[in-house]
Amino acid sequence: MLQDGFGRRIDYLRLSVTDRCDLRCSYCMPKHFKDFEEPAHWLSFDEIERLLSVFARLGLKRIRLTGGEPLLRKDLPELVRRLAALPGIDDLSLSTNGTQLAKHAARLRQAGVSRLNVSLDSLDRDTLHRLTGRDVLAQVLAGLEAARGAGFRAIKINMVATTGLSERDVDAMVAFCADRGFVLRLIETMPLGEAGRSAGFVDLQPIRARLRERFGLVDGVVPGGGPARYLVSPDRRVQIGFITPISQHFCATCNRVRLSVDGRLHLCLGQETAVDFRSLLRGGASQAQLAEHIGQALLRRPERHEFRERPGRTVRIMSSIGG
Ligand code: SAM
Ligand code: SF4
Repeated sequence: MLQDGFGRRIDYLRLSVTDRCDLRCSYCMPKHFKDFEEPAHWLSFDEIERLLSVFARLGLKRIRLTGGEPLLRKDLPELVRRLAALPGIDDLSLSTNGTQLAKHAARLRQAGVSRLNVSLDSLDRDTLHRLTGRDVLAQVLAGLEAARGAGFRAIKINMVATTGLSERDVDAMVAFCADRGFVLRLIETMPLGEAGRSAGFVDLQPIRARLRERFGLVDGVVPGGGPARYLVSPDRRVQIGFITPISQHFCATCNRVRLSVDGRLHLCLGQETAVDFRSLLRGGASQAQLAEHIGQALLRRPERHEFRERPGRTVRIMSSIGG
């Protein structure tokens, strides 16, 4: 069983398949960022499959593909097919910014992605342009329509709460999601790297209280296994999750680790502790040796992040680790 030194069970891995992105969200990647990982350092599909098959044998149940922008990784559906076929993996999901989704949604669904998270911070074209660095609203909306038609089990919209977020923006997004059967998730900005730190922080607690009142919402449960706490309307047309790493952290129940494109296993989103698996894979480590190193790595998991106490602690940016 995959367990860390604090008795937390790990059954979920976020796999970053690239650190590159076609957007530059203000809270994630600095505008002129160029310090990307060398292609020679990217784990190949064979290496990913080998390592994750060992994880799966040890008890991993869920994998989420992320990035950077995962749809920029060539032949992604091929990787999806391989991971979906791993014995023990019963949930394969994907996080995307949606810019390329119109083209890829159906193939990804067929390959085995069952749930989709799409980042969309505003329904206002100019605001989204300002936040992402590109005029992409129409593209993302087309991607979402394609995804709706592709038969995913669930589609969630991730909206990072940025300073300047108005009640009107939030209410428009609530209505948009309710009309289309999407689950909305509001996320507090985390101080990862310079971009995350300079984005400013918006406390979601008052927004949560206002939405509860405004839409007559009650506490509810929405499948997903993540840290979001949900409010839902009695008819469940409105479903809103709140991810509050700063105002109410959830480290005690953290069930996940993260594998970045260069093969480093990151043991906490808010700490720099990581273990290199690329050299082990390329050095010909056996399955037993990989399993041994996974077990040891988990014992190095920090108890919690320190976003509040030490916001300058992480130098890496969110796009390099995948959220
Ligand atoms: N490119 C894909 C996307 O945007 O969904 C996947 C990678 S992105 C790093 C994963 C998630 O992290 C997105 O929902 C994004 O909004 C979120 N994110 C990025 N930087 C963040 C930050 N500083 N604080 C909180 N969430 C952040
Ligand atoms: Fe790219 Fe996603 Fe980061 Fe935006 S949040 S810059 S889309 S990786």
